[in-house]
Parts: sequence; C-alpha cells; structure tokens
Amino acid sequence: MFKASLIKKLSKKELVPKNYLEKKLKEGKIVIPLNRKREVENITAIGEGLRIKINTNIGTSPEKKGYKDEIEKLKIAISLGTDTIMDLSTGGNLRNIRKEIIKYSSVPVGTVPIYEIAKNAEDKRGSFDKFTLDDILEVITEQAKDGVDFFTIHAGILKNTLDIIKENKRVGGIVSRGGAILARWMYINNKENPLYENFDKILSIAKEYNIVISLGDALRPGAVADSTDNLQMQELKVLSELVRVCLKEGVQVMVEGPGHIKLDEIGTNILLAKKLCRGVPFYVLGPLPTDIACGYDHITSAIGGAIAGLNGADFLCVVTPAEHLRHPSIEDIKDGIMASKIAAHSVDILRFPEEWQKDLNLSLYRRKRDWSNIFKLSMNKNKAESYRKSLKTHTTDICTMCGKFCSLKILDSCDLYK
Ligand code: SF4
Repeated sequence: MFKASLIKKLSKKELVPKNYLEKKLKEGKIVIPLNRKREVENITAIGEGLRIKINTNIGTSPEKKGYKDEIEKLKIAISLGTDTIMDLSTGGNLRNIRKEIIKYSSVPVGTVPIYEIAKNAEDKRGSFDKFTLDDILEVITEQAKDGVDFFTIHAGILKNTLDIIKENKRVGGIVSRGGAILARWMYINNKENPLYENFDKILSIAKEYNIVISLGDALRPGAVADSTDNLQMQELKVLSELVRVCLKEGVQVMVEGPGHIKLDEIGTNILLAKKLCRGVPFYVLGPLPTDIACGYDHITSAIGGAIAGLNGADFLCVVTPAEHLRHPSIEDIKDGIMASKIAAHSVDILRFPEEWQKDLNLSLYRRKRDWSNIFKLSMNKNKAESYRKSLKTHTTDICTMCGKFCSLKILDSCDLYK
C-alpha cells in the first residue's frame, strides 16, 4: 500500500522498527493518512505503539466566511507541531478554501464532506437537507481528487436512533454538526442514513485514493450528564461493524470518540471502543470531563485527553478556549494546540525514552538556571523566553518568583549535590 521509502522515513520519525509499522498497518492498528494524489512533507502515522498525535481544526463558518485567518491558523498550527489539520469550513466558497488549505498544508488534511454536501444543497435548492445520493458521491469524489487525506463519515447514526432520542430526552441532544444534519435529513425524508446505506460506494472512493475513513461519532455526548449513554453505545456498536467492513475491504479506518465524558468513565470508554473496534486508531474529541469551564475548555480537554491517551487513545483533537462560545481566533488556536500537546507529551514520556529524555534534560538545565537551554527545550520557546524577559532580576541565576530565596541557588551553596 505504501512505498518502502515512506515506511523507512516514518519508522525513523516514529521511533519504531519498520517491521512493526508494517505489521500494525496490515492489522489496521496504525493508519497513514496520505491521499494517493498528494505529496505530504510531514507525513504521520497514527495508532498503537506510536506517539500520540494531535489534530487542529480550522475553517470558516457562515458567520465568518473570510479564509485568510484560517490560512494563518494553518501556518501557526504547523509551526507549533500539529500532526494534521482538519478543514471544517462551512462558509464561503468551500472548494476554493479547501484547495488553499491543501496547498499550504505540509501535514495531512482531513474534512467532513457532509458539511459541503449540506451547503451545496442549501445553495442549489434552498435548504441544507435537500441533498441526494448523487450530491453525496459528487462531493466525496471531488474532495478525494483535491487531495484530502482523511474523511470524517458519520455513518453510525441510524434512523432508529431518532426514536431513542425522542424517548431518552438527552440533556445535550446531538452536538455533532454532521450528526445533526443527518438526523434532520432522516427525519424529513423518513429514510435511513444515506452514508450508512451507501457505505460501500464511499469505501470504493476512499480505496481508490487511499483516504483514511474516520468514522464520526454523531451521537457523542455533548454534556457530562449524557456520558456513556444508550445512544453513544448504540452508535459505537454500528461503528464497530463498519470498522469490520473497512478492514475487509482494505480501507484504512479510525474511529472518533467522545465528547463530554465523566472523568471516571474516560478510561472505560477508550478500552471499550478499542476492543469493539478491533484496535484501530481511536481519535478523541476532548474528552471534556466538565461542562462549566467555559472559556477554559482547552484545559478541560487536556485533562480528558491525557486520561484518554493513558488508556489507549491515539489521536487528540485540539479544543480551544473558544469552544462552545465563538469561532476561534488565532490566539485561541495557539492555546488549544499547546494544551493538546501537553496532554499528548505527558503520556508519551511514559512510553518513549527519547521523550522522557527531553524532560530530564530540561530539569537538569532548570536546576542550573541555564535559561537559554531551558528556552531551547521548552515546548513553546517563544512563550518561555518572553515570560522570563518580562520581569528582570538583579542577577541572572534566579527568577523573580523567589528572588534571593531561590531554593535551587540556596542548595547550590551546600555540598548536598556534589
Ligand atoms: S527563584 Fe524560585 S522559581 Fe525561580 S528558579 Fe529559583 S527556585 Fe525556581
């Protein structure tokens, strides 16, 4: 499926042997998002036994159609180390925006095709739920040709779940945009989810272009009160069946996960999803263990993401402080990325000696107050440097926190470390 030179390059980058990568790719436990039509400078592999990867969502909205800021976000996200980008645009000329994002992205690019399908239906027929199977396949094919590396496909929400939604009266309802669009389409048309019914057709496009299918969790809980509920579990069962179909057809697949989840249920959620979905990569949207930290959801999601990673999640989606409040700014994107990176790295140091060494080195420099090396090894050099420089001290071997009571300096004057 992939050239030997690419596997060699990735095994070096991922710090794992080549044959490990090949074996896990074959088993479906690792995926490489790389459209056959695209050259990606920073390729990445996602899955079992690899460092945890992060994805950054960018894109326009109907309220914010200009895409220049989105290109700026893309560049910043890449410079801060995002492993992939998802273009979630829903406002403006979606094809042009996608092409621009793909042009500037040195990392794999993912999309949620149902957004463009719905927008086209609204533009052409005056309502976003007036789309047909031909519209679906046209958009998916066009996106594949444009070079999209992975697709979120919400094929797990079925018509019978609408009855359960009515009966269960979920607190958060459906918070997935794709899920809500499809639920409405099924309700209005009284038909089964077209992405589920025509999954074979979608797979054949994905196979032709070597696109990873990311099975979307349309019914992820959007409130911790809905954590691990009937609807979420119902969809997970469908997703596990679709994973089996993808693997049988030789299409790379990963599964998207929750959502708003109680802290003590995150581990179980990951273990269950991994087990039911045959160990394919698991991509979490959070999880968020509390609903009330509005304006701080990057922190909430980093807490959930670290626990998810510890229990086997392979891929974290960046959540910004603007989550649930507004379209994120460039600064929001930066904060979100750093929070996800911290979550991922906190798990990675437990598994990779090379990652552990980074922390060890920084700690040793910190003990010596060797600021230039501290900056060099910091996750965000610029931020560390600007903090240090913003408050000057009378001598360089302390900081303004403790001044002459610098514990490290006090101990330097003793023989304890010699
Ligand atoms: S002054 Fe305090 S915070 Fe600053 S380096 Fe010394 S011990 Fe650390």
